[in-house]
Amino acid sequence: MLRETVRALAEAKIAPHAAAVDEEARFPQEALDALTAADLHAVHVPEEYGGAGADALATVIVIEEVARVCASSSLIPAVNKLGSLPVILSGSEDLKKKYLGPLAKGDGMFSYCLSEPDAGSDAAGMKTRAVRDGDFWVLNGVKRWITNAGVSEYYTVMAVTDPTKRSKGISAFVVEKSDEGVSFGAPEKKLGIKGSPTREVYFDNVRIPADRMIGEEGTGFATAMKTLDHTRITIAAQALGIAQGALDYAKGYVQERKQFGKPIADFQGIQFMLADMAMKLEAARQLTYSAAAKSERLDGDLTFFGAAAKCFASDVAMEITTDAVQLLGGYGYTRDYPVERMMRDAKITQIYEGTNQVQRIVMARNLP
Ligand SMILES: Cc1cc2nc3c(=O)[nH]c(=O)nc-3n(C[C@H](O)[C@H](O)[C@H](O)COP(=O)(O)OP(=O)(O)OC[C@H]3O[C@@H](n4cnc5c(N)ncnc54)[C@H](O)[C@@H]3O)c2cc1C
Repeated sequence: MLRETVRALAEAKIAPHAAAVDEEARFPQEALDALTAADLHAVHVPEEYGGAGADALATVIVIEEVARVCASSSLIPAVNKLGSLPVILSGSEDLKKKYLGPLAKGDGMFSYCLSEPDAGSDAAGMKTRAVRDGDFWVLNGVKRWITNAGVSEYYTVMAVTDPTKRSKGISAFVVEKSDEGVSFGAPEKKLGIKGSPTREVYFDNVRIPADRMIGEEGTGFATAMKTLDHTRITIAAQALGIAQGALDYAKGYVQERKQFGKPIADFQGIQFMLADMAMKLEAARQLTYSAAAKSERLDGDLTFFGAAAKCFASDVAMEITTDAVQLLGGYGYTRDYPVERMMRDAKITQIYEGTNQVQRIVMARNLP
């Protein structure tokens, strides 16, 4: 029922704008409005804080169905979960009440600030600094590649509080867009997900009350990694959705397109490609749903499954979208058809929330 509801909403209110959002590289405001009106913009927020209380699998289904028509728009529910999960996992009751309510109501989105210009895969090498000053912390530094930066009201920021301790000297904070000293860089010009703003975030002597720290001092990096165990599954969901959109489109096209006097769908070479695409997609889906169940149960092998689902589903999405372009021939290579956009959008799922090389490092360290 949830899938049918989201699919209907996505097709009616999000899909019609997907090509323009990509072409104009503009924020998908129509999608935000439609998702917020239907209470689907941050479905993971627990009911006790005014949210819809969707479990990990339901959240996956929402993201999957939005990504099927517009990958950029699927970053709205996905990054709202990524940005706020540190508060849900490790924040004080006061922080949860203060920030999850407005997020659930649609009064402010959340972003997640881990990466820096010189600290990507090696995130613990970050330089952003937080220094204690009485009842306040003062933040200075630069975060890079921050999804929804400038649009979001709230930012979970990882910063060094003790430079002698590397990852154990990192703490997490909630910073608000309106805090003095917060500013944003120009939007990045990207290959895909062009409707999702990606910008640098600058902290210039940003002074925030000490109770904005998420969890204990020195636990920020652990919280950031624990968050990714859960949210990599949402990137897998995004990959599934993009791949499903491409497969659905290609399936229809091959029945219409005629060459050699018959629909190209009649050629076994084409049928085998579609069969492989559907097989790989279903395998990725089962792995992703299984990881989502583990996220809900907090199973001990969640770290492996989160990384495996993200890595497998994103590699599969890249293959399927590339094959979809192939199935449309020259037409697939143009912006007159959506599979070209889907192929460009799929690429990011192999890169963010840890590249697929990093996922393989994580899997190798956590073999089941
Ligand atoms: C559109 C977009 C949105 C993003 N959104 C966010 C966000 O909201 N918040 C956030 O914090 N970050 C975000 N990121 C950052 C993203 O997570 C990083 O780009 C990613 O983790 C890789 O870091 P890097 O770009 O510095 O690449 P690098 O770490 O420099 O990696 C370069 C290459 O080296 C490989 N590599 C690195 N180390 C190893 C190793 N040990 N073994 C084998 N290969 C290795 C990588 O896999 C990659 O192929 C976003 C990025 C993009 C492009």
